[in-house]
Parts: sequence; structure tokens; C-alpha cells
Amino acid sequence: MKFTVITLFPEAFSYLETSVLARGKKKKAIQVELMQLRDYTDPKDKHKTVDDSPFGGGPGMVLKVEPIYRAVEKIKAKFAKRKKKPRARVVLFSTRGRKLTNEVAKEYAEKYDELILISGRYEGVDERVAEYLADEELSIGDYVLTGGELPAMVTIDAVSRFVPGVLGKMESLEETKGSYPTYTRPAEFKEWKVPEVLQEGNHKKIEEWRKSFKL
Ligand code: SAM
Repeated sequence: MKFTVITLFPEAFSYLETSVLARGKKKKAIQVELMQLRDYTDPKDKHKTVDDSPFGGGPGMVLKVEPIYRAVEKIKAKFAKRKKKPRARVVLFSTRGRKLTNEVAKEYAEKYDELILISGRYEGVDERVAEYLADEELSIGDYVLTGGELPAMVTIDAVSRFVPGVLGKMESLEETKGSYPTYTRPAEFKEWKVPEVLQEGNHKKIEEWRKSFKL
């Protein structure tokens, strides 16, 4: 699975160098490419302008459509040169988008080889990106963040867990079925005890106990 992120803040993505995701990258199960949006501004514009004031007035600035168009076109031109076209999806992060859930993450991991993730900033993104360039808009929850970088990292993390070879054991995905409580040694700390059922070694009973937390 390859993720290409179009962003003004590629340096924010150092999180992806940690733990399981770093291992996933090392094992080549996932690949992440960061595209600096400013590199796709009008070549004649020495100021590399990525934003402008909104039509109709109002506060803040809006990310322009042209640099995002150029960045997406560059990716698509690369796809066109390949013998086998990848199954790709262009996703724009937006507070109005479809809600990211585990089901959506699994769907992405199963249906696509490439995700192109567009991180917005400021007051948002020129609506023509949603209308003409993106296949869909995605929200990571009902709150407003200052930019689409955290949503992109959250999406990469959630989708990567469903890509074979990223998690050490595919069983780790079991938690998605029910998110049961977990404990580790010591069995007793102060007077706080680990449930007996987990210590008895009866796997059938343990499974039943875990299933009782199923959502
Ligand atoms: N007025 C805009 C709105 O309500 O969508 C706020 C834009 S927000 C400050 C800047 C960018 O952050 C958005 O364009 C989007 O890419 C991203 N963003 C913020 N919150 C998000 C969320 N909950 N899910 C996905 N993206 C989000």
C-alpha cells in the first residue's frame, strides 16, 4: 500500500518513523511519499503562493485549486506510465467528509493500492478540489483541527494496520472486533487484581470472556 500525502507541512510526519509504522515501511508493506504543496505552485510565481482570500469575503485564507491540481496530475502521470495501473483513491480531508471508522480503513486497505491524501489548512480548500479532483472527502471526527496533517497520519495508521505484514501478528487485529480489556504482569498490584478467568489458562473461557465485550 502506498500513501502519497500532499501537504504544506511534510515535517509533521516524523510520527511515521516510529514503531509499527516504521517497521511496516522497512518491510516495504507500506510506502509513504510526502509532496510539498508549495513545490507545485505556478512556476512564474516567485512567492510560491498556495492560498488566497475567499470569494464573497470572510476570515482567513483558502488553499488554491491550481497547486493541488498540479500535484495530483503529477501522480496520475506517473500512474499512466506504469504497465499496470494501480487501484488508487484521491482523498481530501474535510470536516464535512465521510467519517473514518475501522470499516473504512479496512475497505481502503482491501480495495486500493495507492491512497492520495490531501491535507487542507487555513480556512479550508477551494471547493473545486472536492468537486473535481477528490474521489471522496474524509473526516476523522466531529471536531475542527488546524490542518489535515493529523487526519492524514491517523488514516495512514488505521489503514496500515489492515495491510498484511505491518502488524507483528494479524491476531492484533482481533481487538478491532471487540476491544476487550487487556492486562499484563503483575497479577496483583496494590489490591487491584487481574480477572481470575485470564489466569486460569482455559482458552475457551478466555475467548468467551473477551467476546462479552464485543461492541
Ligand atoms: N472551516 C473549515 C471546515 O469547517 O472544514 C475549517 C478548515 S480546518 C481549520 C483546515 C483543514 O484541516 C481542513 O481543510 C481539513 O483538511 C483539515 N481538518 C480539520 N479538521 C478535520 C477533521 N476533523 N477531519 C478531517 N480533516 C480535518
